[in-house]
Amino acid sequence: MPALFIGHGSPMNAIEETVYAASWREAAAAIPRPAAILCISAHWETEGAFVTAMPQPKTIHDFYGFPDALYQVRYPAPGSPELAERVSSLVSSCAVRLDDGYSWGLDHGAWSVLRRMYPEADIPVVQLSLDRTQHPRFHYELGRELQALRQEGVLIVGSGNIVHNLRLLQWDAAEPYPWAAEFDRLSAELILAGAHDRLVAYPALGEPARLSIPTNEHYLPLLYILALQLPGEPVSFFAEGLPLGSISMRSLRIG
Ligand code: ZN
Repeated sequence: MPALFIGHGSPMNAIEETVYAASWREAAAAIPRPAAILCISAHWETEGAFVTAMPQPKTIHDFYGFPDALYQVRYPAPGSPELAERVSSLVSSCAVRLDDGYSWGLDHGAWSVLRRMYPEADIPVVQLSLDRTQHPRFHYELGRELQALRQEGVLIVGSGNIVHNLRLLQWDAAEPYPWAAEFDRLSAELILAGAHDRLVAYPALGEPARLSIPTNEHYLPLLYILALQLPGEPVSFFAEGLPLGSISMRSLRIG
């Protein structure tokens, strides 16, 4: 099973017919139907790692100030307590705890892209949280430990944005900031070159990286997906673009 990193951008991509929504739909159509989906979303940060383990995760509307239609969206995909257990047992570098209560469900990092990819919501979905106490290298290594799931028909989706600076976002931007375009281009080059160590050590990439990744929760899901690339496995981009001045929609497929 391939693995995907998706630049999700504005939650409006969930209900507006954008080029990005179309590209997510096409990416799903181009791969085998998954047995289940494991999503690592920028929008679930915890202390310690957690995996959703409830049979029916709720749709979480974790954003403010958007049109009512977006708050009406439900993505009623089932969960998978079995996959949650499998993830927890597969990972040995840390304890991945089961969230089997009501603390999480599916946040918009997951459902805004999944409702485009699988609108029937009939494939079980589990989310893995980002342990905010850990370094980028930890997240990359944790991603590696998920490799076996691909052979089991599980689609692993990282959902974030390579460039994500909300403080400098411009709703009417005609052009991206030069530093945003530069970091988007540099990260693409490094991804194609398989230079994962440099992407993990992103603070060393200078000012464009500092401005593109003011906080790293939207960047970290990329590291989980890169970690799944086996030697010689292809990587390709199925979406790109720099809307709103400071967001990169670059999305990629491993395998
Ligand atoms: Zn986001």
